[in-house]
Amino acid sequence: MAVLENQKSIYIFIGPPGSGKGSLSRLCEQRLGWVQLSTGDLCRQHIAQGTEIGKQMDFAIKSGKLISDSLIVEMVGNWLLTQESDDKPVIFDGFPRTVPQIHALQKLFEDRHIAARLVIVHMVLPDEVVEMRLKSRLICGNKDCQIVYSAIDSKLAPRQEMQCDECSSELIRRSDDHENSIKERLLVYYKHKQGLLDFYQTIGQAVVDLPAQGHVEEVFNSFQNIVGLKRA
Ligand code: ADP
Repeated sequence: MAVLENQKSIYIFIGPPGSGKGSLSRLCEQRLGWVQLSTGDLCRQHIAQGTEIGKQMDFAIKSGKLISDSLIVEMVGNWLLTQESDDKPVIFDGFPRTVPQIHALQKLFEDRHIAARLVIVHMVLPDEVVEMRLKSRLICGNKDCQIVYSAIDSKLAPRQEMQCDECSSELIRRSDDHENSIKERLLVYYKHKQGLLDFYQTIGQAVVDLPAQGHVEEVFNSFQNIVGLKRA
């Protein structure tokens, strides 16, 4: 089976739930031809397919808790094995979320002889914007699509009510986008965030802050400037 090989640019997106990690990753895929891995999407695919792993994850996700490091790392390792060995940059959206996951990722790279050039992008926006976005978030119910829309932001509204612009599937609310779970996810995010940032600092790994309050096109523009893909 093909594996990623040699020098590889790996973009790691850190940000609160609802900060637009998935939407930005999608633009990078579409416009720059990059590859994206969202561990949240992978978890939801397992749940939708009713796999054994999916059954273990369902409750944790609905209540806003993290999935165990071992399960997540196993999924990421399996995903890496399915990737072509080309030089396309890869985005990790929502992984690593804990320091043990960073160590596990380093080990996955070593085992697969990948010399990773890490770019860590920290998406920054106020909690009240996060909460408002999550409470009004709609997603495409097709698990292979999962495009994000908003019930209140006209720039992110679907063309047809409750219908995906891309694949025409019905739009749904995510099972973890309810009030209690949103609060829990924010708590979990802040609990782990500082540990991640401190760890990167300890190993001398730069982290770039990306203002994430604007529309996804603006964020995409700032992202390209900040990581040096184009001139400001
Ligand atoms: P969000 O960032 O909006 O909360 P995601 O789709 O990235 O959404 O993740 C949804 C859920 O999937 C998380 O709340 C968590 O339960 C699980 N999950 C995703 N990535 C990880 C990870 N790296 N470690 C542990 N759990 C994860």
